[in-house]
Amino acid sequence: MKSHTKYITINTKKRYEIINITDAVEEEVKKSGIKEGLCLVNAMHITASVFINDNESGLHKDFLNWLEKLAPYSKEGYNHNLTGEDNGDAHLKRTVMGREVVVAVTGGKLDFGPWEQIFYGEFDGQRPKRILIKIIGE
Ligand code: ZN
Repeated sequence: MKSHTKYITINTKKRYEIINITDAVEEEVKKSGIKEGLCLVNAMHITASVFINDNESGLHKDFLNWLEKLAPYSKEGYNHNLTGEDNGDAHLKRTVMGREVVVAVTGGKLDFGPWEQIFYGEFDGQRPKRILIKIIGE
């Protein structure tokens, strides 16, 4: 069995951002030389997500608006922020959107369903944060 590991660092301009990372993941699958296997992609921070959905900007705004209704940004109202942090909302947003995705690798390519793309969701940005890509297989 072969394996290939890559860490990507992202530093968003805004506090909240959704970024398409599909091309970066595809590049690592190509570099790995793995034809049949699995590709794991996960956020390495507890205030950011990796998820799969449609590459449609309206939907991305809908995600951010919906998350803001569920867990609005506020310094007050979160027990977590009593520790001196201000990102209680970001931990909750991350949990809703998920930590990681696993995509099958078939014939050397990510085996997506129709319209599926991989996104990084940042909920407490403006500082460097890492994403892990791990591909295993033959
Ligand atoms: Zn925190």
